[in-house]
Amino acid sequence: MGTLLVTGGAGFIGANFVHHWRSRHPGDRILVLDKLTYAADPSQLEGLPGVDLVQGDVADPEAVRRLLDRGDVRRIIHFAAESHVDRSISGPAAFIQTNIVGTFTLLEAARQVWAGDQEARFLHVSTDEVFGSLGPEGCFTPDSPYRPNSPYSASKAGADHLARAYAQTYGLPVLVTNCSNNYGPRQHPEKLVPKAISLMAKGEPVPVYGDGLQVRDWLYVEDHCEALSEVLARAEPGSVHLIGGACERTNRELLGTLADRVDQRLGRTPGASRALLQTVPDRPGHDRRYAIDLAPIRRSLGWSPRTSLDEGLERTLDWYLEPNRRPASRR
Ligand code: NAD
Repeated sequence: MGTLLVTGGAGFIGANFVHHWRSRHPGDRILVLDKLTYAADPSQLEGLPGVDLVQGDVADPEAVRRLLDRGDVRRIIHFAAESHVDRSISGPAAFIQTNIVGTFTLLEAARQVWAGDQEARFLHVSTDEVFGSLGPEGCFTPDSPYRPNSPYSASKAGADHLARAYAQTYGLPVLVTNCSNNYGPRQHPEKLVPKAISLMAKGEPVPVYGDGLQVRDWLYVEDHCEALSEVLARAEPGSVHLIGGACERTNRELLGTLADRVDQRLGRTPGASRALLQTVPDRPGHDRRYAIDLAPIRRSLGWSPRTSLDEGLERTLDWYLEPNRRPASRR
């Protein structure tokens, strides 16, 4: 099937996906298009055979056309995005440019170059945050209405709508996935789990937004990569798939569990890291709860998450706490 184009492949999920795909399809060529923003860590891809990294902007039509005009790219998995909700509140412009204009630019180039090729695939990776906030009961399904609450989720929602429109209007073989919160190796230290581990390890206060009772469904990144592989290989063009970890926890519960494990690993008195949790004012527009109904993806693709939170956190702690394994930019 030619070359796989991975946008945002030097970021957290993208880099994990490149490693995942490389190990399962050693004969495939992988082309990574990444702007190498602050969020990227290109060292994650160093030395991987068959992987070429091109620095470029998904919102730059010429850069995108140069890659697609080579003619060998018939599958695209689109991760590239501005992804941090707090940054979208303080500076939304980059989110509109990359997440909406960038997705449009890629879709448009694929439409022109693929010219009706129904064997090609464009997988747009999105978030469950586009569906807004749930009450204490219920789950998101592929039919949930869009109700984004932050500039980040609104920009991803805009991109999802464009992806859908390109499938409906032009018959572009587009797939869309919306997943819950990922955790695991290679994540940027500004995100909740790596940030908490790093602060706890240093014995510094760990901020907890508001009452800390916001519920997230934690998905181990390797499980997510497996689900994406299945979607890319087997899902019907035009279909939408929700991917979750079947692991709902409040932020306080997650941080408490993490704190206990950090204490164990570092041989500290039990409770020492929990004492570092410190309430700070809540994030504006902070969604209360996300949860995903896994029945549809179980039925359509036979996929379920495999990694328990215990196992996933152990592997995550291995990555962040082992000095020889963590790269400088991810400390
Ligand atoms: P990340 O911020 O770690 O990585 C994003 C990557 O995209 C970086 O390498 C960055 O350099 C690159 N990038 C940014 N702007 C670009 C541009 N204009 N052109 C080319 N490359 C650009 O993000 P992530 O956590 O790996 O998320 C990947 C995708 O998954 C995103 O689309 C995000 O919305 C989605 N997602 C993430 C999560 C999560 O928990 N991390 C959950 C749901 C959905």
